[in-house]
Amino acid sequence: GQCRVVCPTGAISIKTNIDEVWDALADPNTIVVAQVAPAVRVALGDKFGIPKGENVMGKLVNALHRLGFHEVYDTTYGADLTVIEEAEELLERISSGAKGPLFTSCCPAWVKFCETRYPELADNISTCRSPQQMFGAVIREYYRNPEINQGKKLVSVSIMPCTAKKEEILRPESMTNGRQDVDYVLTTTEVASMIRKSGIRFENIDGESTDMPFGIGSGGGVIFGVTGGVTEAVLRRLQTGHSRVEMDRIRTSGVRGDDGLKELTFDYMGKEIRAAVVNGLGNADKLIKRIQSGEVSYDFVEVMACRRGCIMGGGQPVGAGPRTRKARAKGLYDTDVNMQIKKSNENPMVLALYEGLLKGKTHQLLHRNLGSTEN
Ligand code: SF4
Repeated sequence: GQCRVVCPTGAISIKTNIDEVWDALADPNTIVVAQVAPAVRVALGDKFGIPKGENVMGKLVNALHRLGFHEVYDTTYGADLTVIEEAEELLERISSGAKGPLFTSCCPAWVKFCETRYPELADNISTCRSPQQMFGAVIREYYRNPEINQGKKLVSVSIMPCTAKKEEILRPESMTNGRQDVDYVLTTTEVASMIRKSGIRFENIDGESTDMPFGIGSGGGVIFGVTGGVTEAVLRRLQTGHSRVEMDRIRTSGVRGDDGLKELTFDYMGKEIRAAVVNGLGNADKLIKRIQSGEVSYDFVEVMACRRGCIMGGGQPVGAGPRTRKARAKGLYDTDVNMQIKKSNENPMVLALYEGLLKGKTHQLLHRNLGSTEN
């Protein structure tokens, strides 16, 4: 059956699919897979008394396996795909002399806001699907192979920091051949309640690694969960080298920190790329007005609807004050420090995908179908 979580303000009622996911997990004729967004891993622990900001991805993978998920993948992998596609689009725009900045498209609340308030900017929003949607399409395609699906039905579940991601999977422009790729989205708090209900002692279980072939992500992909992360990952991709010095130059370029608006410039083969990082829709609105009046201009603008990015999404455990927010951002940056692969375009599993499953299909699986934007 379906149940609804009612918004405390009474303004909206948000659908939860917890029951459908339980049913799928109990059904012997399904393969249920999960992808977990970067921001989830540094917030879920709040629900189990784990120190704020601690990365609990390993425990979450273990818990999801115990709940019956057959495979658990990392949306960081999807973020790597997004970085590669978006950097390409940026370079094409710059070389073609297209007007105005390229705006990111990975936050559905921002995309919706922009479409409603500034329809004239439609051509400036990246054609890239979000990490969830790129990865959702790749997972769906991968499991079409009868050797992999073993004649069972795939149920694809995303674990996300916000409810806007539930709407995103229903947008026709992000579907593949008219079919929804991700079946259900669960928020961080919904997954916490499932774990609790199952009796798993989350705080005591060991960590497990994510499953192959989509279990490896880069540091660039993991920092997507914090404001500035998308821009930093794209700049890493554009940077030719990958030494510590080069990565540090990007880190200290002004891309980090939780200001509502950050500006930075980056040298790309002798050309200056101007970027802005904005979080919070009020800040985005102000910035667009300044861009439209000609007061400022950029090549690339990252927008996240939530202040400080997805770490503070509406599906994350609440009651997060300044200390929690800092700890979550630090949790993601520390995770990046401990990852061997920093650049999305150096993730070997992603490169293998381009040589295999994605051959001739990048447009179909990774970009929005802009002919069908009516929702
Ligand atoms: Fe969702 Fe907020 Fe992240 Fe946008 S910024 S994708 S609304 S959590």
